[in-house]
Amino acid sequence: MHIALVAHDRMKDSMVALATEFGALLRQHTLMATGTTGGRLQTEVGLTVERLLSGPLGGDLQIGARLSVGEVDAVVFLRDPMTAQPHEPDINALVRACDVHNVPCATNLATARMLLTCLAQR
Ligand code: PGA
Repeated sequence: MHIALVAHDRMKDSMVALATEFGALLRQHTLMATGTTGGRLQTEVGLTVERLLSGPLGGDLQIGARLSVGEVDAVVFLRDPMTAQPHEPDINALVRACDVHNVPCATNLATARMLLTCLAQR
């Protein structure tokens, strides 16, 4: 499967911890991520990740576009609910694209764990 990973700044430590916990699973799939998130996953978790643009520069939109043509099967999008983001429209566009195309999208840690646990059992 093709899995996209995105974490807002205050959620990046959680993303690294999550990816470490599910590293064995994630290594079996093709990963893409927004720029900064992907960089941390490469250096701190050792994952092979296609790095797109940083979120505020269009990375979320890139993932949404890829997803819309069937190139993304699941999204882990750890949004920061407590901080306003300059690229809020892009964030909403990505989540909307997931809903339009019926692609699972985990926007918090609890759901992300359930999604990845489910993938591990397939
Ligand atoms: P980043 O983008 O991984 O480049 O920080 C994430 C975002 O802010 O949407």
